[in-house]
Amino acid sequence: MESLKYDIDEIVITPRKLERRVNDLAAEMATGLQSDNLVVIGVLRGSFIFLADMVRWFYMNDMHPRIDFMIMESYAGTVSQGEPAVSRDFTVDVAGADVVLVDDILDTGRTLTKATAHVVAKGAKTVRTCVLLDKPSRRLVPCEADYKGFVIEDFFVVGYGLDYNGRHRELPHIAKVRFADGAQNDDASA
Ligand code: 5GP
Ligand code: MG
Repeated sequence: MESLKYDIDEIVITPRKLERRVNDLAAEMATGLQSDNLVVIGVLRGSFIFLADMVRWFYMNDMHPRIDFMIMESYAGTVSQGEPAVSRDFTVDVAGADVVLVDDILDTGRTLTKATAHVVAKGAKTVRTCVLLDKPSRRLVPCEADYKGFVIEDFFVVGYGLDYNGRHRELPHIAKVRFADGAQNDDASA
């Protein structure tokens, strides 16, 4: 399906605000998460920039995790297609570990709920969840992140790792996607 017209001119969160908040989040975790067996697992693809920035602040806070990634997919365009599934698993051994699951955005809650259960099933001692963005008004399953960067309204955003149809992840800020006629198309996004 051909992409419909949209623009991404409206900046919702500036690079400077992102940097400050990610720094604060890492400091928050450093006080709450003393562990000598810490594992950070990023839910790809949207979390890659957030995670990369955050773990550098972990270093500054004397936290030295093992880091791995998993891919979960369920989105098509801007619409969740229902049950998310692990399409590429992490390989790090999480048995007995204190795990921090990092995702870009908490929307319906399905992805983080499923990912948490997946990590628990692999024997993690504890699982904490951390998201850059939270859209509480969109929740379909009860799910709260232990750590969250920003709460936003119900609109679709791109940048700082988040995509629309695979694009705009490279933006250093978070931007709102504004559709010409309110319509959205249906290519994959994760
Ligand atoms: P949930 O399972 O909570 O509905 O969905 C979470 C996933 O949906 C996120 O990891 C992300 O991939 C995608 N998602 C939800 N809202 C947005 C959004 O506003 N922008 C982008 N780019 N992805 C989103
Ligand atoms: Mg995602």
